[in-house]
Amino acid sequence: MTGSGLLARAFVLIVLLVYPHVLLAAHPQADSKVSFDNFLASLWEDAQKAGVSRPVFDAAFAGLTPSPSILAHTKQQAEFIKPLWDYLNGAITPSRIERGLQRGKEQAEALQKIQQSYGVDLYIVLAVWGMESNFGAFTGGESVIRALATLAQARYRGDFFRDELLIALQILQQGHIDAPAMKGSWAGAMGQTQFMPSSFIKYAVDFDEDGHKDIWTNVADSLASTANFLAQKGWVKDLPWGMEVRLPKDFDVSATDLQKGESFDQWSSLGLQRSDGEPLPSMGEAYLYLPYGLKGPAFLLTANFKVIKAYNNSNYYALGVGLLSDRLAGSPPLKGQWPKADKQLSRGETIELQQILARKGFDVGEADGRIGDRAQAAIRAYQRQSGLKADGYANPSLLDRLRKNP
Ligand code: CA
Repeated sequence: MTGSGLLARAFVLIVLLVYPHVLLAAHPQADSKVSFDNFLASLWEDAQKAGVSRPVFDAAFAGLTPSPSILAHTKQQAEFIKPLWDYLNGAITPSRIERGLQRGKEQAEALQKIQQSYGVDLYIVLAVWGMESNFGAFTGGESVIRALATLAQARYRGDFFRDELLIALQILQQGHIDAPAMKGSWAGAMGQTQFMPSSFIKYAVDFDEDGHKDIWTNVADSLASTANFLAQKGWVKDLPWGMEVRLPKDFDVSATDLQKGESFDQWSSLGLQRSDGEPLPSMGEAYLYLPYGLKGPAFLLTANFKVIKAYNNSNYYALGVGLLSDRLAGSPPLKGQWPKADKQLSRGETIELQQILARKGFDVGEADGRIGDRAQAAIRAYQRQSGLKADGYANPSLLDRLRKNP
């Protein structure tokens, strides 16, 4: 086949992938324009009730059409679950640490003031900035109004994006930013903090007091908004997010309730030690997290870890923030070894494991192919019932065992 023939076929394939409605409608553009106009007409009624003026509304939607590429994002789902070590290696690269140290130095004064005002560790604020936008380098190039309108009209996740769109219009009405400069991710997460409009309304602050809450171009506003978010979600001053620990050789994992908070003193008396050689904190409590059971690093996590999860409800994400903050503060990398040689379950296999456990009466939450806290607790309950070491590690041998005895 010639190169141009290949190109032509590739072009047809791309057109069908991105614009599948060309197969379904004779005049797709005319039809979609009518339905988008209808969507805007009904939106206007609610926007008006929310205090949005007609000029602001019209300016926000001037020349705007739904975005096929944004809709395409909603249909993507990763087939493979990234192991935690791959995720952390991608999140905490040497270049990101270097950039974070540089940006932290530039913003040292603002960060100190923000730490004093909100009581949130400045390295955590810095690390969230790094995770969300690579310290302001990547804030997303989509029009937030276009992204939210596209998802709202498609009723992706029900009313969620329509509600966010109405709040985005209120933000424009308040004059914090102009519609063309209101940029974000394909799902409407905005600026350097990647706040959804509903988070912006609740937590964004005008730290430099120029009259605008500007999380797009103003670093002090952005960092203070993140700190305010974490403070409002319950950040406990002077409590670490958590730390890597070493378990004693004779540690009885089956006898320990991993998700239950215990005082650091209690963990000390059970023989746990910080892997960096420092003493455990003298105050406060933590729970034990073993992402790969006894075969990987162990962590003690505090209430502040759960506060970070309010930003993004994922253990991977919160560990990324915590460990990046440690590296920015000068701490060494993790000491524990990940079980990289072990075969990992695919998403499909993980869903199968969750479904078998659910059929057996264990509470796995949603069978979504991700091992969160509930799924891990269910695995431990099954392991305990079966006389196995209850470390919560979802591996192929566990799935084999469940398949043989479904
Ligand atoms: Ca400001």
